[in-house]
Amino acid sequence: MPWCDSCDEYRAPTALATDGSCAACEGEVDTSDLKNPAPTKAPWHFWLMVVALVVYLGWRLIEAAIWLVGRF
Ligand SMILES: [Zn+2]
Repeated sequence: MPWCDSCDEYRAPTALATDGSCAACEGEVDTSDLKNPAPTKAPWHFWLMVVALVVYLGWRLIEAAIWLVGRF
């Protein structure tokens, strides 16, 4: 989040002037965290959900195949 030292406030990225300065006081805003955002990594429980979903849908697919074969 960009921080304006003169206003002593956080500024939303959309609330900045086009040149990246503060729209309220036209002072310099620290936007270093916007240019170099911390890499976002998916948490482990997200991948647990993905694996669970793949296993579940895979099983439903097998069930559907068994059901289809059983009809003939
Ligand atoms: Zn300002």
